[in-house]
Amino acid sequence: MKTYPMTINGKAIDTGRTLDVINPALGRPFAAVPAARPQDVDAAVAAARAAFPAWRATPHAARQAMLHALGGALEANMPELMDLITRETGKPLQGLNNVGSGMELGGAIAWTHVTADLPLEPEVIQDNDQARIEVHRKPLGVVASITPWNWPLMIAIWHIIPALRAGNTVVLKPSEYTPVATARFVELAQAVLPPGVLNVVTGGGDIGAALAGHADVNKIVFTGSTRTGKRIMEGAAASLKRLTLELGGNDAGIVLPGADVPAVAARLFGVAFHNNGQTCACLKRLYVHDSQYEAICNELVRLARAVRVGDGLDPQTELGPLQNRAQLDVVGTLAADAAAHGGRILSGGKARAGQGYFFEPTIVAGLSNGARLVDEEQFGPILPVIRYSDVEQAIALANDNPNGLGGSVWSSDLQLAAAVGKRLECGTVWINEHGAVQPDAPFGGVKQSGIGVEFGRHGLEEFTAIQTVKIMKH
Ligand code: NDP
Repeated sequence: MKTYPMTINGKAIDTGRTLDVINPALGRPFAAVPAARPQDVDAAVAAARAAFPAWRATPHAARQAMLHALGGALEANMPELMDLITRETGKPLQGLNNVGSGMELGGAIAWTHVTADLPLEPEVIQDNDQARIEVHRKPLGVVASITPWNWPLMIAIWHIIPALRAGNTVVLKPSEYTPVATARFVELAQAVLPPGVLNVVTGGGDIGAALAGHADVNKIVFTGSTRTGKRIMEGAAASLKRLTLELGGNDAGIVLPGADVPAVAARLFGVAFHNNGQTCACLKRLYVHDSQYEAICNELVRLARAVRVGDGLDPQTELGPLQNRAQLDVVGTLAADAAAHGGRILSGGKARAGQGYFFEPTIVAGLSNGARLVDEEQFGPILPVIRYSDVEQAIALANDNPNGLGGSVWSSDLQLAAAVGKRLECGTVWINEHGAVQPDAPFGGVKQSGIGVEFGRHGLEEFTAIQTVKIMKH
């Protein structure tokens, strides 16, 4: 079994201990990474701190060229990185609606190039006889990036590239469930970046906490659960670290009356079940009008029974296993609770016997807000379909949740759908789509789904501090 390197200051570090990484399709380890110690966190932060002055002083064009070279390294190593992602996350190589490791790599490459090209020039607020006032964007220093297990490499790229583009240096801590592709990418990146600019520490949540609480870290960018996000925020208070938090979602979708059922159901199924529902902005609660409730449920059930579930390395597979046993247990508990509280399990409903962390794609009818499966984020292949009788009620039910990441409205009446969508309490609303993000449009949560945004100019600015320069002319 291969051990992938943990890179600090351009060098692979042997910590004397390793962590096994499990392939969730088999429930067995397939690779290992070094288990970081607290002194490794100190060394990584010190290396990033030492590399910061030269990296900050590197001209924009030179930094941009190096970031494009990182995009090139991702592209040149795509088959290897896709294979590692499928083995560590369980997600198929292609997958339902082409959402798989191929898309994770394709997204990582696209985000790298688009973010590298983002401008960051000063803004002129005033330039007259009295004074010239410029707003400059300066890097913050050392950025700690803490990433989850659902899209490990793509989310690492979402954190690292804007941080580096703005002139910061980075210490990355991947989830202990999925550190392999990230560790391999950081190793590849050393051929492009000066030592210390991008470092990685591999270990469990205690290593994440040590990094997030480190006195010499200036900003934390974190994607993961709301619970962990709150802990990180507490730790950040001591030195007033800057934060971007992209946390859980429990995204609602509302289907307005008069939908084309087969067409809409196929799209709804894709946006709820791709990556087995393990995406922050998957559709997680579906509100359907009385008049089409049974028809949409029936169509979703047909799709749930037809979708091919298996090992992600099999090219026929559309949905893989859950990424880890704890998440499999969460989904099983929510399914059992739904059945015990009036939910009708229309398809699936249980884990598969045999090896791996597989759960049958599950559609649940008959629940509403107040049931755990509706109120809590399931992060798995189980969708509650909730009946409503008027649109005002649907909007109120959709907004009745502490999360506010995304939301969607489905209708051929685009004006009406947009008017309903704007009343949803969420950071992004989609009309006839859900969860589609792109590198030039800001994305982030309101309420307890997070703080700040990622992507585009707005996301890039989160890795900077403003310096206002006022030059008097007389
Ligand atoms: P967490 O959110 O707890 O973990 C995400 C990252 O944070 C991991 O790298 C983790 O390390 C690290 N971490 C854990 N504890 C701390 C800490 N105290 N300080 C700093 N870093 C820490 O993931 P879970 O596995 O607990 O996720 C469970 C739930 O999170 C899911 O059910 C889902 O609801 C939500 N989730 C949301 C995601 C999103 O995209 N917004 C992605 C993944 C999960 P380690 O894994 O090594 O402990």
